[in-house]
Amino acid sequence: MTFKDFNLNNPLWNALDDVSIKIPTSIQKKTFPVIMSGRDVTGIAQTGTGKTLAYLLPLLKMWAFNKSRHTSVLIIVPTRELVVQVVDSATMLSKYMNVVIRGVYGGTNLKTQAYELAEGCDILIGTPGRLLDLGYHGSLNLKNIRKLVIDEVDEMLSLGFRSQLQHIFDLLPEKRQNLMFSATMTDDVIRLIEEEFNNPENIEAAPSGTPLDNIKQIAYRVPNFNTKINLLHIILDQNPDMNKVLLFVSTKALADTLHTDLSARYEGKIGVIHSNKDQNFRFNAVNSFKDGTYTVLIATDIIARGLDIEDVSHVINFDLPEQPESYIHRIGRTGRADRKGEAISLISDFETDMLSSIEALMEYTVPLQDKPENLEISDVLTEAEMPEIRMKNVLAPLPKMSDTGAFHEKKAKNQKVNIKVRYKDKMHAKYGKPKTRGQKRKK
Ligand code: AMP
Repeated sequence: MTFKDFNLNNPLWNALDDVSIKIPTSIQKKTFPVIMSGRDVTGIAQTGTGKTLAYLLPLLKMWAFNKSRHTSVLIIVPTRELVVQVVDSATMLSKYMNVVIRGVYGGTNLKTQAYELAEGCDILIGTPGRLLDLGYHGSLNLKNIRKLVIDEVDEMLSLGFRSQLQHIFDLLPEKRQNLMFSATMTDDVIRLIEEEFNNPENIEAAPSGTPLDNIKQIAYRVPNFNTKINLLHIILDQNPDMNKVLLFVSTKALADTLHTDLSARYEGKIGVIHSNKDQNFRFNAVNSFKDGTYTVLIATDIIARGLDIEDVSHVINFDLPEQPESYIHRIGRTGRADRKGEAISLISDFETDMLSSIEALMEYTVPLQDKPENLEISDVLTEAEMPEIRMKNVLAPLPKMSDTGAFHEKKAKNQKVNIKVRYKDKMHAKYGKPKTRGQKRKK
């Protein structure tokens, strides 16, 4: 089957031809007829399966020109990077069409974006926060939206965007087609579908939690952080085919630490992105990685979500993510669009439970690799790895106030001491002992 078998049109076929995209992927084959039928769709698809084109192609085929240039298609994605990527894909596909596509995201000038929107916009792609800001600013009219796409829903919900999404839904007309894509079907995602979607058709490109077949996974057991660093050096030194490596870490601080360490060893070859870096820095880092200036890009989970970087040769997990699903997202950066990829995980002792949860989710045991012979096992522990030392709590007696001489005498009015007097005793003092019933009766 090729895209020629899809009910597209010449502008779209020509645009696909220009980028040599010919054979539809499984999610594209499954979703196209359903989206074209106008039904709501929930798609379970990992990044790299071609899900962006799976919704863009039918949306562009169904899109009809309107003179007033009211926005009729809204695509909500979790990160700024993903906005840029979806805008790029939509621009590529609509090369031979007269359609205005705009992307909006935070961290940039709101007024400029409002001004651009005022000039007309057919298809709008944005992050929830910025879309709402523009809505409240009065520069975004969502009343004509006919098609809504929410991409990477699981990520959007885990980032805490549920209430922002709700506010956006409230600004949309009720009659619309809803499409949703998620890599995993979490309880939150199911709840959102139940609340907002109208009897959707559920389409799976791969079962939730299944890694892509074309990714080779291996793991090394290493005792501690410093040995992980030594192993990382060996892995990077000894594999000449490691030309585009995404190196995942779970915290921003660790990302910066590794960046300093690796930059000293591989000068000018290492990039880093995480959410504390500003937008320009992040774009530049990704571009330098894309064009091959950097061979290694160190990234935290959230920021790497949805990054579509072609030809990532290897994913290295310097540590394991807390959420097993994140592991699937991490390794899904490599082996994209049917190419081969490799994922290497460095597992320290306290991460073995995390590995078990990941393996249970994937229903796959990651093969353990023997440590390289030249690996130097470090016995220098980091502060976090040090065993907790329990000390007896010995409290030195405090010096008496009078001994220290540091305090002045209290003023007379402050020398009063609060003495609690029970209500009963107070009444007793005032009115004498109460008479008992017996005494009363005697009278
Ligand atoms: P996505 O899963 O949407 O992030 O897409 C991953 C990558 O696959 C993007 O770079 C797309 O351009 C590419 N892609 C999407 N569909 C196809 C296809 N049918 N054939 C080849 N490449 C594709």
